[in-house]
Amino acid sequence: MEEPKPAYFYMSSGYSGMALAKHGTADEVCDVLGCDKPAERSFNIKQVSKSSLSLKSSDLRQVHLCKEHYKEFKKQTKTDRELDQLY
Ligand SMILES: [Zn+2]
Repeated sequence: MEEPKPAYFYMSSGYSGMALAKHGTADEVCDVLGCDKPAERSFNIKQVSKSSLSLKSSDLRQVHLCKEHYKEFKKQTKTDRELDQLY
C-alpha cells in the first residue's frame, strides 16, 4: 500500500518545522535540551557549563536561557559559590 504523496504532504510535515526555526532574529530560543521557550538572557558557555543544564549544542559561545532555566542556572551557580566558601 504505497501511494505517491503529493508535494504539499512533505511541505506540511517536515518543512514547516524548518521554516519556523528562525536564525539570526530577535526571537532567540532557550538553548537547554528539550526546551523551546523564548530566551530571557544569554550567558557565556563557560558559566553555564558549571551548572548541570544540558544544552542542545556544546558548540556555543553564548547560551540563551529562558526564564525558568535562568532561575535554575542561577540557583545552581549560587550553591556552587556557597559551597566554595565553606572550604
Ligand atoms: Zn529553557
